[in-house]
Amino acid sequence: MRFEVTQVLDAIERHLTTESALAQAVVDLGQVAWYGALDGGRPVSLLRVGLLVDALARHLGEDAVMIYAVASRDLLTDADLTSKERMVLGRWSGDGVIEVVPVLADRVPEVADITGLPVVSIDGFPGLERRYPWLRGVPERVLQLVPGEGEARIVGGYPLPAEGRANLLSQIWRCARRDCPLFGDRRAYTQAVPRMKSGVPVCPRHDEPLTSVGPRPPSVTMVLIVDGVIRDRFVVRAGRPVVVGRSPDDPTGIVIGGYLDGSIAQMISRNHVRLELRDDGLVATDLSTNGTVVRTPGLTGSYGLGEQVHLTNGVPYLLGPADTVELHSGVTLARADRIPGGTVGGQSSVMGEAPTMTIRPLG
Ligand SMILES: [Zn+2]
Repeated sequence: MRFEVTQVLDAIERHLTTESALAQAVVDLGQVAWYGALDGGRPVSLLRVGLLVDALARHLGEDAVMIYAVASRDLLTDADLTSKERMVLGRWSGDGVIEVVPVLADRVPEVADITGLPVVSIDGFPGLERRYPWLRGVPERVLQLVPGEGEARIVGGYPLPAEGRANLLSQIWRCARRDCPLFGDRRAYTQAVPRMKSGVPVCPRHDEPLTSVGPRPPSVTMVLIVDGVIRDRFVVRAGRPVVVGRSPDDPTGIVIGGYLDGSIAQMISRNHVRLELRDDGLVATDLSTNGTVVRTPGLTGSYGLGEQVHLTNGVPYLLGPADTVELHSGVTLARADRIPGGTVGGQSSVMGEAPTMTIRPLG
């Protein structure tokens, strides 16, 4: 049983990020872990975060949902956590998978305000609507987590990308502590969201002023769609090409073999296509044996009426804003802000291996 819990926590971890370019919603991890009514179980449980991931996947229609999770130190020291949960939380904190802050205060709406992301909440953050008017004024940015029938549900709208505070995210910020998991040396290209204190950006973890070390390279967030299901989400940054394939040689490549059936996996090369963000836009280069096709949707948005181009192996091709890159029929890369219609979510569950007793049906 412990082994299964470990697998669920590992599955949950793949949906947590402190990279603003990847995240889709901001949440207070403690609020979810302490939400006993969600499953009627223990006072605190990290498995509830899995219920949230599944609920958000169904709500947003995407199985690769990424959550920016903030936790206060109180959660990490909660005596009711299992030793396994405490260990995993400590690891997530140390690796920068989640953001741990001494005091939560308004941190969750603040991250949402700076990034333009929606929040997932239980209570809608009463008392903070004066500072963050969108908590009341733009209800689709406030997604409510509620108990469902043997699962959890999200009640709310389908938030469109909102305007964040781009000036704060256009810089690379550094924490005075070089080993900082959020703004330290190892976050050269990705980083968390600064906290504002009296108008000065500070490290949310260490509460010390951040220094700007220059502009942040532009980036494009992409999704992998397999048979209509969004399976993965990744970022292509200027100067950092990304290879996508069955099992790319480059360790930073996007490995898609695990999402494919055997016969289709055989049609995808280990290094299939390279994406690169240049000054003139996003460029795809076919590296494969069986070829790569770029599709441009027609005016109706129907792919049947659009154009298609078979890429010439090794020759870079400049993609249009709505173009999709097809590695094989049903295996497509698209920009995360231009996902073609017809995708579905909730096809897989991070709770797949959870002991059934932890997700008792309600009632
Ligand atoms: Zn720091």
